[in-house]
Amino acid sequence: MIRNPEDYIASIQDGREVYYMGKRVSDIAGHPSLRIPLHHAKRMYELRSDPAYRATLVYEDERFGPVSSFFKVPRSEQDLVERAETIGALTRACNGIFNITQAIGSDALFALMIITKRLEKEQGKGEYHERLMRYYEHVVTRDLALATAQMDVKGDRSKRPHEQPDPDLYLRVVEVSEGGIVVCGAKAHTTQSVVADELFFIPSRAMTEKDQDYSVAFAIPANAKGLKFIVRPLLEFDGYAEKEDAPLSSSNLEAETLTVLDHVFVPWDRVFLFKEWRLAGELANLFATYHRYTAVSYRSVLVDLFLGAARLAAACNGIENAPHVRDDILDIVLYKEIMRMATRMAALKAIRDPETGILVPNPVYTNIGKLYSNAFFPVVIKNLIDIAGGLVSTLPSTAELKNPATGHYIEKFMQGSPKFSGLDRFKVMRLVRELAGGPLTGYLLGAMIHAEGSVAASKIALYRDYDFAEAERLAMKVAGLSEGE
Ligand SMILES: Cc1cc2nc3c(=O)[nH]c(=O)nc-3n(C[C@H](O)[C@H](O)[C@H](O)COP(=O)(O)OP(=O)(O)OC[C@H]3O[C@@H](n4cnc5c(N)ncnc54)[C@H](O)[C@@H]3O)c2cc1C
Repeated sequence: MIRNPEDYIASIQDGREVYYMGKRVSDIAGHPSLRIPLHHAKRMYELRSDPAYRATLVYEDERFGPVSSFFKVPRSEQDLVERAETIGALTRACNGIFNITQAIGSDALFALMIITKRLEKEQGKGEYHERLMRYYEHVVTRDLALATAQMDVKGDRSKRPHEQPDPDLYLRVVEVSEGGIVVCGAKAHTTQSVVADELFFIPSRAMTEKDQDYSVAFAIPANAKGLKFIVRPLLEFDGYAEKEDAPLSSSNLEAETLTVLDHVFVPWDRVFLFKEWRLAGELANLFATYHRYTAVSYRSVLVDLFLGAARLAAACNGIENAPHVRDDILDIVLYKEIMRMATRMAALKAIRDPETGILVPNPVYTNIGKLYSNAFFPVVIKNLIDIAGGLVSTLPSTAELKNPATGHYIEKFMQGSPKFSGLDRFKVMRLVRELAGGPLTGYLLGAMIHAEGSVAASKIALYRDYDFAEAERLAMKVAGLSEGE
């Protein structure tokens, strides 16, 4: 089923417990700030009826009929290539801002399909996979918006879950009954949870036997009793008095929450991992690989905003042919195309899970793309600032442009290259300020370095998964060592 946008909006008005800037919010759609992440999510539902997007966002499933492309289980390299195209097309339609609405939830679904099947094979526990596949049908046929809360708040990072002085610093099971389990704890940074229909909760790390109460995965509706969302301040929008000074964030942004679970009941049919601590780490890794593939897919489009803004700013300033400006721009091109190449290589060299036949993006190419993005996104921002000049920090506000006493000065003194009016150059610099000199910049820097996993997490995975044998054989041959050594 393909849900229409109005039904989506209606479905999230369900009494969920949301807090923003110190107040409980009962009507997200009517809230002046929270309506933006809601409309951002809604955009995905709207675009399905646009003929230009239909073929990318919807596919014909043999069992369920037309459903969201995000839920197409990757069974071939081409499926993964198309998944990246879906993520990219949606990001572009959302003005370069990633739309997580069904991306992260399907990343979790695919990882859980593989892990629950492994539980069946290795431990004879077939019920988890059956439950998961029933839940998959529930999600797909209702076209649900899903958030995924993996990252625990973690307390003292040097300690394992069971070693933390406060036992709630990793999400854990506190009660078990015939009907289900009760969980307590909190997850950090959960993107778009307040506008999701349901949320997945999965472990954030490998566990030991002593951490078995923390080895739990499940899904619950966003209005589950005891589930509380504390939304971060949306400074990209709320930080500006004049909303036109945030041309991007006033239409597209995503909201993260500190997601608190205070004795939340989860029925058994929504529990997908329960104390099977040996598989917690594998689930965390597998989800991370799918989700980083999603990351490199959207980042090649996000950076187009910076590339386009850099080109426009250079032209407005009349410096488009200066050698250092071309160098700045080429760095941004490298970033974009390396993201694309990483995505394509990860799909073409994907690894088939032997039990389910599901394809997992190649973790080496996925993590290489992600690590390049971590390292060079600050360079993208620096280069845009270099080209645009100091206006990135000192541009007057839109209110001054509208003020009859000052507006004509702004138009006059914003003039640059004669190819652009002063007003147009002002508008370009306003976008540049939002991208490279405002609250969105800080948000994006944090996101490009930490979202979809920290730098260290990607490096650990890359070192673990990289095949060094070919290089070692070559060095051994030239050094005169026999292969056995
Ligand atoms: C914009 C944004 C959106 C996000 N969306 C989601 C989401 O939807 N769902 C979700 O689950 N998560 C989400 N995340 C979370 C993201 O995965 C984490 O931020 C990331 O994994 C880093 O974890 P952390 O924030 O707890 O930082 P930390 O892990 O505390 O990292 C801080 C530093 O501590 C280091 N460190 C951590 N542990 C150790 C250790 N044991 N030993 C040595 N060094 C250590 C790290 O390497 C890093 O250098 C999001 C993050 C951002 C920024």
